[in-house]
Amino acid sequence: MIMVKKKKLKELIPQPKSRFLRVKCLNCGNQQIIFGCSATDVECLVCGKTLLQSTGGKARILTKILEVLT
Ligand SMILES: [Zn+2]
Repeated sequence: MIMVKKKKLKELIPQPKSRFLRVKCLNCGNQQIIFGCSATDVECLVCGKTLLQSTGGKARILTKILEVLT
């Protein structure tokens, strides 16, 4: 029973690491999975449009998010 309680406590702590997003390019409709906490800009693999802009720590998504993969 003690082990179960410990597990519950662990789940309460949010871990925003490694969050991937399935996005759709507004320019060409290409779907691709990008890393939501990327430290660098992410561009569409098809047309080169910037999908994610890194703004010094916080990434800004510039396109449509279809799904958040955790
Ligand atoms: Zn595109």
